[in-house]
Amino acid sequence: MENGLIDLRSDTVTRPSPAMRQAMMAAEVGDDIYGEDPTVNALQDRIAALLGKEAALYVPSGSMGNQISIKVHTRAGDEIIAEAGSHVFNYETAGAAFLSAVQVHPVEGRHGRMSLESIRRAIRPDIYYMPRTSLVCVENTHNRAGGTVYPLELLKETAKLCQENHLALHLDGARLWNASAQSGIPVRDYAECADSVSVCFSKGLGAPVGSAIAGTKAFIEEARHYRKIFGGAMRQAGVLAAAALYALDHNVERLREDHDKAAALAREIGSIPGMAIDPETVQTNILIVNVEKTGRTPEDLVARFRDGGVLVGLGPYGTFRAVTHLDVSMADVRKAAESIKKVMAVR
Ligand SMILES: *Cc1c(COP(=O)(O)O)cnc(C)c1O
Repeated sequence: MENGLIDLRSDTVTRPSPAMRQAMMAAEVGDDIYGEDPTVNALQDRIAALLGKEAALYVPSGSMGNQISIKVHTRAGDEIIAEAGSHVFNYETAGAAFLSAVQVHPVEGRHGRMSLESIRRAIRPDIYYMPRTSLVCVENTHNRAGGTVYPLELLKETAKLCQENHLALHLDGARLWNASAQSGIPVRDYAECADSVSVCFSKGLGAPVGSAIAGTKAFIEEARHYRKIFGGAMRQAGVLAAAALYALDHNVERLREDHDKAAALAREIGSIPGMAIDPETVQTNILIVNVEKTGRTPEDLVARFRDGGVLVGLGPYGTFRAVTHLDVSMADVRKAAESIKKVMAVR
């Protein structure tokens, strides 16, 4: 990176490439609040088609996409079911409570996946003094669990369970293309299971800004209303949407390279005494490294790695997190591993 550091904190740190900036500069634009931005409209049509949904809506962030979806699917006082490590529960500043006046019923999953039984147990019985369960949220890939892919079969069965219980199903697909790259399953097959889907262009796809949500026409009409209330309606947003279109054209196929880089990094780091990576979670571009047996804290290690030229982030308790992306090469990853090994060799 420009400052000489190898930045593995997140796949959100990428900067738009010269060619992406060129596409942004050339974008045809109009006022999107009037529905007149041709580039935003093209992006929304493309996302709807890719995800096999009737309609899609461009939104400024993944959090807003999730929060709008929750708002549309629920009424104040409802309860929604989400995995205990999920983004909607942990990293959206209690947005569901703040914006939709619903409470989250967290369900402990394994590798970010909720068993059917655990969901079934969390669904409230229809008793007037209990909260009304109205929505289940799933995350694919699951960020906090280490970029793990939701098995399509489990997702299908989850969808069936939701239908039987008259619950909506929202898929947080911030990294849905990573899931698809890993499994070979088209994104639309995952999307088909859910009533609404959110996807991010600013993660592995390398766009500077933006997400989209997709669902039925009626869902998107409601979503457009709440996007305005939440402050996410924009004017000549085609400049940003152009980056997303560019990313869909150029940065989807290459996601496998990020996964290869993460696997290489996992092999190197996994060989360091005291560092542990659950091999079952090494699936896409996120590594969660447990350091409890090194005798050092994750905070201490993050600071030392930084001094060695490598940026990583804190993960769940006792861990640090490293994420590969467009702006780090395989050579960078090898250099980062060497630097981390050097730090760990100093007693
Ligand atoms: C990053 C992310 C989001 C959205 O994050 P924003 O920073 O609001 O764009 C949503 N869900 C998951 C799983 C994510 O990793």
